[in-house]
Formats: sequence, structure tokens, C-alpha cells
Amino acid sequence: MGIPLASESRLASLKGRTPTIATLCSHSSLQIFHGARARGFPTLGVCVGPPPRFYDAFPLARPDRFLSVPRAKDLVSVGDQLRDAGAVLIPTGSFVEYVGADAFGSLDVPVFGNRAVLGWEADRKKEREWLDSAGVPMPRRYDDPSEVDGPVIVKYYGAKGGKGFYLAKNRAALDEFTPTGPYVIQEYVLGTRYYMHFFYSPLADRGYRVGHGSLELLGMDRRDEANIDELYKLGAQEELLRAGIRPTFVVTGNVPVVLRESLLPAAFDVAARIIERSIELFGGMVGPFCVEGIMTEELEFKVFEISTRIVAGTNLFISGSPYSDFVEPGLSTGKRIAQEIERGQGEGRLNEVLS
Ligand code: AMP
Repeated sequence: MGIPLASESRLASLKGRTPTIATLCSHSSLQIFHGARARGFPTLGVCVGPPPRFYDAFPLARPDRFLSVPRAKDLVSVGDQLRDAGAVLIPTGSFVEYVGADAFGSLDVPVFGNRAVLGWEADRKKEREWLDSAGVPMPRRYDDPSEVDGPVIVKYYGAKGGKGFYLAKNRAALDEFTPTGPYVIQEYVLGTRYYMHFFYSPLADRGYRVGHGSLELLGMDRRDEANIDELYKLGAQEELLRAGIRPTFVVTGNVPVVLRESLLPAAFDVAARIIERSIELFGGMVGPFCVEGIMTEELEFKVFEISTRIVAGTNLFISGSPYSDFVEPGLSTGKRIAQEIERGQGEGRLNEVLS
């Protein structure tokens, strides 16, 4: 038996019924509904305003029904309706960004995974504490701007899609920056970015064993980030600035990538450390998560961020990936989530995968 994350009262709304898989109508909702439907679960989409029409274009990924709220953060006021529907909420980046980790954490509706983890993602200082203490290599952090001795990136808290990030080539450029919210200053690492989609199952009893369960790698992507990814066309950051354009890391899309096979052991090692430490710190991160880092020319992987739930890059792989096909042909992260809930229910262990 693993670690219980949910009390009996939290799961009372699911007693004796098939859970309804629910999420906010954005981010990776098509994949989540598609995976849930494929495993025979009823589905519910929480939408802001009227149901979005684009679902009509995707019949296999359309939720069975919608629950409309005026704003995403009003999700916290429809707890009764979600419980009545027997909902299990699948957290996405939209929950962190639009609902807020605190409000989401106190919602009395069963959530897939350990809800405590979102608070660790939302606060970059806490996230750093977790990764540092797990022995994961990270870009250097500068507590005091006077220590800056090379290129740095200034990052705001939360999953803001890279909006408003500031790149400074040196200390002088950093002095020109006026922050508009809580931020951290990090070494700007030169290398190639990889976003690795892992899944930790506390229920699995075979495979790459970590904690009481197993670690799976379901896919990998790189993000297209406007306008920084097009910077090379202008030659240099100064060119953009001269044109009055501030370079940004706003994500506009995702492209599939694979890692050199010889680097996979290091990738698994980093992910396993993150899980093992999460078990010690807060009972474990369960389900999908993404390790986001930069491979340097010395083949050192520096992790700049982790997402503690499904990431939108998994949308590339709804019919499998070069990694998940070795786990089960055609396996998406959305389907994997539904499988885990199915297994938890079948084995009477939902309290280990829901919180
Ligand atoms: P994050 O919000 O931490 O995911 O960062 C957004 C984007 O900024 C990433 O996708 C990277 O392109 C870039 N980035 C973040 N941290 C670093 C770093 N330490 N060095 C270089 N690029 C970074």
C-alpha cells in the first residue's frame, strides 16, 4: 500500500459510482476528454461563459456536458455541483494560472494527483528548495543583483507562459529592469531545451521502480516561444530592442523532439530524484509532470522548471509518442490519467491517486 492523499470524506461523492472526469475547457482539455472517453468515463467541461464551439469540430474529444462559470476562478464556487456530478478534477496549467494554487488547494472536490504539489510549482522559491534538496542540477540563482557576472533571465512566479520575462546580457542591462511582481534572477543557460513528459504511478508494480510505484516517460517536446525563437532572423537582441520590441518567451506552440538515447539514463535519474524528494516533502507528486531543462554542450542537463501536472506539450502525442509507444501503443497522457483512475477504483486505491 502506498501513501493515502485523500480522506474518506473527500472521496464520499464518488462512492459507488463511476467518476466523471472534469477539467477547465482549455490547455490540454481535448486530450483529457479524449482519453477519458476512450476508457468509458463520463466527462464534464468547466467553461468560462457559453460552451466553446470548437469542441463541435472534435466529436471524440467533446465533453458529455458543460458547466458554465463567469470566470475561471469561479470554479471554487461550483464545488457542490461538481461533487453532485461525481467529478474528479484534472489539474492543468490553467488551474495554476487562472484559479490559483491556494484557492484550488482548498476546493472540496476530488482532484487527480496530489493537490499540495501545485503550491510548490506556483512558488519558484519553494520549487527551488525541492529540486536543490533532491540534488537536481539547476541554473545558478542570484539572490542579489550585485552578484551577477554574466547573462541572466529574470522570471516571474507561476505559469505565466513566459510573459514579461527579462533577459539581461550583463549587470548593467539588469539595472535597467523594473519588476512588476515577485521574481527570481537565474543564470541564462546556453544549450538546447527539452521538456520531458513523465508520469509517476504509485499503483504500478513493474517498470522503472521509484518509491512504491513506477516512473514512465510518455513524450518530449520543445516549445515555440515568440518572439525570442525568431530572434536569429534579426541577428541579435539589440536589433529587436532597437526596433522597440522587448524579447519575450510567450509560448505559441510545441514541436516534438527526442533526446539522444545515451542521455535517457540521466533524464530518468533526475525525474526519479524529483519524485523521491516529493514523497519525503509532501507525500509525493502523482500522475503527469514535466521536467524542463537545458542540455549544455558539456551534455549537462540543467533543470530550470518543473510543471507538476499535465503540460500542453503532451497535446502532440494523443496517438502515442516515440516513448509512450514502448509503454503501450497509442498511449497519450490523457489516456494514462484515465487508466490510473480506473485502476485506483478497481483496486480500491483511489485515495492514493486522488486528493
Ligand atoms: P519557465 O517559465 O521557467 O518555464 O521559463 C520560460 C522560458 O524561458 C523557457 O521555456 C526557456 O526558453 C526560458 N528559460 C527559462 N529559464 C532559463 C534559463 N535559466 N536559461 C535559459 N533560458 C531559460
